[in-house]
Amino acid sequence: MSTTGGRSSDEQTPGQRLGTPLEFLPGVGPARGKMLQRLDLRFTRDVLFFFPRDYQDMSVLRRIESLEDNRPASICGIVDEIDLRNTGVGRTMLGVLIRQKTQHLRAVWFNQPYMRDKFKLGARVLLSGTPKAKGMRWEMSHPRVEILADDEPPAGKILPVYPLTDGINQGLMRRIVHNTVAEYLDCVEEVFPTEFLELHQLPGIHETLDQIHQPVQRQRLEQAQHRLIYQELLIMQLALAQRRASHRNARCAPRLEATAKIDARIKRLFPFELTAAQLSAIEEIRADMVREYPMNRLLQGDVGSGKTVVAEYAMLLAVAHGKQATIMAPTEVLARQHARTLNDNLRESRVRIALLTGTLKAAERQTTMVAIAEGKVDLVVGTHAVLQESVNFKDLGLVVIDEQHKFGVKQRLSLRQAGLQPHYLVMTATPIPRTVTMAVYGDLDVSTLDETPPGRQNVHTYLSDDEGREKWWDFFRKKLREGRQGYIITPLVDESSTQELASVAEAFEQLANGHLEAFRLDFVHGRQSAEEKESAMNAFRNGETQVLVATSVVEVGVDVPNATLMTIENGERFGLAQLHQLRGRISRGVHPGYLCVFARPASDDSRQRLDAFCQTTDGFELAELDFQMRGPGDLFGAQQHGLPPLRIADLSRDAKVLELARHDASAMIKRDPELVAPEYARLQRMVRVRYGEALDLGDVG
Ligand code: ADP
Ligand code: MG
Repeated sequence: MSTTGGRSSDEQTPGQRLGTPLEFLPGVGPARGKMLQRLDLRFTRDVLFFFPRDYQDMSVLRRIESLEDNRPASICGIVDEIDLRNTGVGRTMLGVLIRQKTQHLRAVWFNQPYMRDKFKLGARVLLSGTPKAKGMRWEMSHPRVEILADDEPPAGKILPVYPLTDGINQGLMRRIVHNTVAEYLDCVEEVFPTEFLELHQLPGIHETLDQIHQPVQRQRLEQAQHRLIYQELLIMQLALAQRRASHRNARCAPRLEATAKIDARIKRLFPFELTAAQLSAIEEIRADMVREYPMNRLLQGDVGSGKTVVAEYAMLLAVAHGKQATIMAPTEVLARQHARTLNDNLRESRVRIALLTGTLKAAERQTTMVAIAEGKVDLVVGTHAVLQESVNFKDLGLVVIDEQHKFGVKQRLSLRQAGLQPHYLVMTATPIPRTVTMAVYGDLDVSTLDETPPGRQNVHTYLSDDEGREKWWDFFRKKLREGRQGYIITPLVDESSTQELASVAEAFEQLANGHLEAFRLDFVHGRQSAEEKESAMNAFRNGETQVLVATSVVEVGVDVPNATLMTIENGERFGLAQLHQLRGRISRGVHPGYLCVFARPASDDSRQRLDAFCQTTDGFELAELDFQMRGPGDLFGAQQHGLPPLRIADLSRDAKVLELARHDASAMIKRDPELVAPEYARLQRMVRVRYGEALDLGDVG
């Protein structure tokens, strides 16, 4: 790949020229070459695709009276006064007063006496910088200056602003990029066929990179940015569409038909009428499972919307055909809860259920594994940690993954690779904004439970400071006496066991000897053994314990309908998604829920988050809000979904482009599933390079 500086450029292929090490560029050399490496810039190609983090737009001019404090702006005016003075040994301050009609702005430079020579009284200048209100007047420190000829219109300059590193300033970086674009831009090859560009009204790659680095016009710059965003999202969507198509091509899933008889037999087992949303999700699952290729469905629904029973339907459908089914949960508490629900609902049936978690004794675990391998077990409930280890199923027909957002894209594949091709249902309780669903789960079909089971009561949410405590505890006690139960949630101070223990133990001590003296309290936290946790949860579930002091271990999935009270301490330390999950614990029965969040919000951000939380209980609305406020990172970090991070596109900003890219990608894959047409060869290569590993596309084509 690399090349020497000595060889003349016309002996090299374009690819080789793009691999020219930067130290051979004019004005760079070995020392600066090293510095540039800190920005991941090694070869000329890296520089061409090194995008500005921002633009300084001198083409939009402000009037001085419309300036805002600390908000970067450009202004045009006349030099009215120049004042250079010494402020100490070797120190100077240059002040230049710029007049715009009757308004003035002062520009100052410290220790740059040579700037003095740029200015002439009466000259027209363009300044670009960050204005600060200084008393009665605006001031800009070290603004960028452009001296205008008398008749030159003050417009048209958009300067790229690049990320920098020590030893490389903005001016130098711009020169390096400028030289590279001038010399090497022609070597970049277009990934899209010409007709494609025309059809989608996209500028070619040369125009695009030229405008990105040396924009001459807002509109052309925006088109260039659009092309790059579109390209990045299209490649992602092509990868997801290909994986989806490859699922369909695998003709080796069992066809599991839900005949009317089977359907009725399963539904009879449930202790309640299904909601319309549950029924339609079940219909979609029925249609999937009868096909000869594996179902790949995401079931999303807010906390308490009743996903478990839908999963149970699918599992029993598999069992009705003599297949095995498994459900994986992220925590032991949740796995045990699922096992209990299944055992309750299936008490009258012959379905054999096994629980497989990390705390089983070795011998017991061995026996269970053998039973699974021999097909003596129909339903396996377990934690993903255990199920992912070498569990051999005799005849696995369905995998359900609960709380998928707790796993990751890679993990959700792991059971599929055993050579078996089970149907596949993933569930997520964290409501996901539509754009994220499209981006991250673009290879899955989606069912949404947009309705809660009937009779659900609202949760009343209060935000309080210490002043409100007495009143709240009065109310809490009253409700306990009426027969309700409650949670006290203390924050996970940090991950260390001692801290977590301390915060739970301390709260427990205080309450047991104070506000809740007269009641039966217990506690549960992540560092207890599984038996301890289980017995605490059991005692709470059957009402022996009235109040459970806990960390956010109860966050995920726990279902105790009689618990309708919750106190959250230090609410400012929880994220919006987490608060919402916690609140989901007390909206599961027929009594209204009451939640009080004690918080001392330190920032506007956390105040805004808590206010939003109190105003709505709609998880999808909160997810959108959180997403707008903080971007997708917090809710669905790149590590969580396991896809490579986007470099240019931003899911909260570029929803429209994403929609477009998804539409185009699916049309393309429908016509040409593996993009074998020669004009798409380059595009397909980019898909593989970027997503091949994350999405296991390697074994597709
Ligand atoms: P999630 O979607 O959060 O996993 P669950 O499946 O745990 O929700 O269901 C929450 C509660 O609602 C459970 O107690 C469950 O038994 C109950 N439930 C689910 N569906 C219905 C229904 N159609 N009618 C009444 N209760 C239901
Ligand atoms: Mg659940």
